Amino acid sequence: MAKARREVSEKLKFVDIVFELIDARLPLSSRNPMLDQIVQQKPRLILLNKADLADPIQTNLWVNYFREQGHAVLALTAKEDKSVKQIVPASKKVLAEKIARDKERGLKPRAIRAMVLGIPNVGKSTLLNHLAGKKVASTGNRPGVTKGQQWLRFGSQLELLDTPGILWPKFEDPEVGKKLALTGAIKDDLLHLDDLALYQLSFFSRFYPEQLKERYKLTDDELFLELPELLMVITKKRGFKDDYERASEMLILELRQGRLGRFTLDRFEELSE
Ligand code: GDP
Repeated sequence: MAKARREVSEKLKFVDIVFELIDARLPLSSRNPMLDQIVQQKPRLILLNKADLADPIQTNLWVNYFREQGHAVLALTAKEDKSVKQIVPASKKVLAEKIARDKERGLKPRAIRAMVLGIPNVGKSTLLNHLAGKKVASTGNRPGVTKGQQWLRFGSQLELLDTPGILWPKFEDPEVGKKLALTGAIKDDLLHLDDLALYQLSFFSRFYPEQLKERYKLTDDELFLELPELLMVITKKRGFKDDYERASEMLILELRQGRLGRFTLDRFEELSE
């Protein structure tokens, strides 16, 4: 972690702005808690990525939350042009004072230089590839930024470091660990699949019961069963007999594929709890 931090700090010197990528389904759990300390005064734009997978009502609440905290923020789908195009105007807004100052000093306008920063799986490579219009960054889950990086140009107004900064999430809280594992941000072999699937079922029956009912053709009575029984019912319905492990795997896979519909695991309404 210390090495990753050092590497990120080193690269920060070369950029005007940091794009902090967060998973819109996990606006708190997918942030690195040290980020404020690492980024410090460097201007920042928070990008709530995978907005296409997240619950739009929750995304709006979280966008407002970050704004109220004084951050510039955009909800984003890294794969979509329309979405990615908002980044340049949003960055200019964040840097408006600096741009005006440079102009006053008679400096020639130049492209904004940025780096992408975030925990694994939030879509850093996807965003870089999309901005660059070609496949550039295959990051794997290694921390820090590799040496000898180059600048990727996005039009004439934005240049990005071609390798993102990778930081780790913090999951001392077991619930945060489950949320990160469910979305694939950390490896699920740290946790039992059926524990994860039971967490998923409890979460969906609480916040998105209709989506769960529809996907697994559940009756109202089945929906109100105790969780292990609910898992048994789904296992049977899918023809897995009593192979709960296989059913758990299927549940998690379908959640990740977006087949249970859009959802947000970090609930805005639970923020003050
Ligand atoms: P990184 O580890 O932060 O570089 O994350 P990747 O760019 O490798 O993305 C992780 C996974 O999320 C990949 O399967 C991407 O296709 C997917 N992904 C990234 N951005 C989005 C998005 O905006 N929407 C959806 N639906 N999937 C995304």
